[in-house]
Amino acid sequence: MTLEPITRAGQQQVVDATRECLDRAGRLLGRDFSLPAVAFDLQGRAAGMYRVHKRQRCIRYNPYIFAKYLADNLANTVPHEVAHYLTDMLYGLRNIRPHGKEWQTVMAMLGAEPVVTCRYDLSGVPLRRQRRFSYRCACGPHAISTVRHNRVLSGSGRYVCRRCRSELVFAG
Ligand SMILES: [Zn+2]
Ligand SMILES: [Zn+2]
Repeated sequence: MTLEPITRAGQQQVVDATRECLDRAGRLLGRDFSLPAVAFDLQGRAAGMYRVHKRQRCIRYNPYIFAKYLADNLANTVPHEVAHYLTDMLYGLRNIRPHGKEWQTVMAMLGAEPVVTCRYDLSGVPLRRQRRFSYRCACGPHAISTVRHNRVLSGSGRYVCRRCRSELVFAG
């Protein structure tokens, strides 16, 4: 069973919660913080991630884990990532440890538990999507992984169809 990703309405709720979290910290610190980019494009096993990419600050949330555990993520993942963003703004990521005392202090300010890993049951959450390449045998189409495709290209691997036993050839 595969889960559906978080709905548009759900995403809006999460963005609102992210902004509330920031506003709360801003009031306590007497400073305004602008909302960083918020994306729901994180894949794999992590619920959230804060990163600076090409000078753009971004909080990324996992749309499947948020769909499955919305309340828990609103209470934990949102302040966790907001705290990363805030410590970046206040100290610079380079100058602190990711979950060090600065981050823990901001978490306390946000009224959140400074927990680093949440163990969710991730059944139904799709893992990182792998790139697939189209191949054909005598009986039908196949999709093979990048690793195998590279082996075929370099001549170090050949693959045969389990049904018809003919060799798989790249379909382009
Ligand atoms: Zn973290
Ligand atoms: Zn075949």
